Amino acid sequence: MPDAFPLPDPAEALAALAADRSRRPVLVALDFDGTLAPLQDDPAASRVLPAGVGVLADLAATDGVSLALVSGRAMADLHLLAEVPVGTLLVGSHGAERARVTPHGLDRDVVRLTDDQADQLATLGAEAAAVARGREGVWVETKPTAVVVHTRLADADVARSAEQESLALGERLGTGVMHGKAVVELTVLHASKGEALIALRDEIGAPVVVYAGDDVTDERAFEALGEQDITVKVGPGDTVARYRVQSPEDVVAALAQFRDALAPSAG
Ligand SMILES: [Mg+2]
Repeated sequence: MPDAFPLPDPAEALAALAADRSRRPVLVALDFDGTLAPLQDDPAASRVLPAGVGVLADLAATDGVSLALVSGRAMADLHLLAEVPVGTLLVGSHGAERARVTPHGLDRDVVRLTDDQADQLATLGAEAAAVARGREGVWVETKPTAVVVHTRLADADVARSAEQESLALGERLGTGVMHGKAVVELTVLHASKGEALIALRDEIGAPVVVYAGDDVTDERAFEALGEQDITVKVGPGDTVARYRVQSPEDVVAALAQFRDALAPSAG
């Protein structure tokens, strides 16, 4: 189905950015699932597209470029699956966890919960387990700061009822709530990809951010960025991003072009 408001491909904007050396450093921040890694029924099977692995390594090694992955996944999970190059900044749990990939492993910022938040997380875990109980294809993931109800493998009506109960649970307990594709995340720490991205940009001092993502939670990142930034929605659906590509394959192709345009031999 064609989009009501077609958005341009980011190729031209990326080429212009590559050519303009006054706009450095560039923060290239990317969602993982559905953006660099095709969506899988089993989330543990997600991997960066093979063609993308070398492109990410090249970008991370390019002067004037900082590479970041910004994901809803728990940090340990993201680090394990993404296999990204040394120097990459990792933002997990929608911004509640931060780390950098070093030659010696993960250098991570410690997540600290208050006693009240820890109590709330335990309550959430127990009540979310009750939502999943007896519903085939629904399961609960526990993160350091959140509980996630997954419904990707459930029948549509089972998924819908589980998601509605999860949303009601979040409202009753007063947690943060994020409703993504076949997931409801209930978080005891206030975090969003938008806030995490702005903090990262300010720390790096990047005048321009390239951000690509496919899910509703990525809209917070698109909203937080400005006219000078290059925001790319992956796949169909309403968005406030300025550009669109259709698939993770397209994301990797666009990043490869950007890398080639940044190479010294091209300048
Ligand atoms: Mg995604």
